[in-house]
Amino acid sequence: MKIFDSHCHLYDDPDPDKVIYEAVEQGVTGFVVVGTSYETSAKTVEIVNSLRSKYPEIEIYSAIGLHPHDAKNSMDRIEDLIAETVADENNFLVAIGECGLDYYYNHSSEAEQKDVFSQQIELAKTYNLALIVHTREAWRDTFEVLDRQGAPRNTIIHCFTGSIAELDRCIKRGYAVSFSGIVTFKKSVELQSAAQACPIESLLIETDSPFLAPEPFRGKANSPKYVIEVVKKIAELKQMDPETVSIETYKNAKSAFNLN
Ligand SMILES: [Zn+2]
Repeated sequence: MKIFDSHCHLYDDPDPDKVIYEAVEQGVTGFVVVGTSYETSAKTVEIVNSLRSKYPEIEIYSAIGLHPHDAKNSMDRIEDLIAETVADENNFLVAIGECGLDYYYNHSSEAEQKDVFSQQIELAKTYNLALIVHTREAWRDTFEVLDRQGAPRNTIIHCFTGSIAELDRCIKRGYAVSFSGIVTFKKSVELQSAAQACPIESLLIETDSPFLAPEPFRGKANSPKYVIEVVKKIAELKQMDPETVSIETYKNAKSAFNLN
């Protein structure tokens, strides 16, 4: 099996090579590694460049962004980092994010969150990069900001946790929808219905590791090697073969991140 983990974080891991190697052994050969601040984004770019130079056969890419939790920090250094990274001929930057709105924690004010989210939407369009959106308890404003600014052609709703109603709004707008280990949790009944209803061509698979380990690893540190559990759950829900789910979602990830 060949699987694409469309969203993981490696910046806090003491041994990213080992994490990637273990995942590759399980057939995971595509990764988008995501930053959430200036520091973690700079580190992410560095990790991806280093892994690329050692293992050119692995399809590993980076994303630079400012998470809504950190929206109170300025975008200045992030903008410089994006410009510097893009200027490097050998860059593997494919997306801006993760960015978006998180009204569950509200670590930054709603106004600050909307402001830096809008700025990142514009950056994605300027550099023709995909946009990775994080949204929690903020669907209404998320759609409003995306509609107002005009969403980039490649917009990905990461770690989707909505219902069929929100799914429909995403699909109608042409967004890709990424499911994480949350879909494997027994209580995620509404989310499982959304996964069932999601057209396979719009569906991505992710771990969001080291967070949100899927069943049966729930509560442990997550790792991209566990993304197979998400594939299996989606296959079960959609009554598809896991192999087919992995092939289709691999293809979807390549098109969502503009890698073709
Ligand atoms: Zn994340």
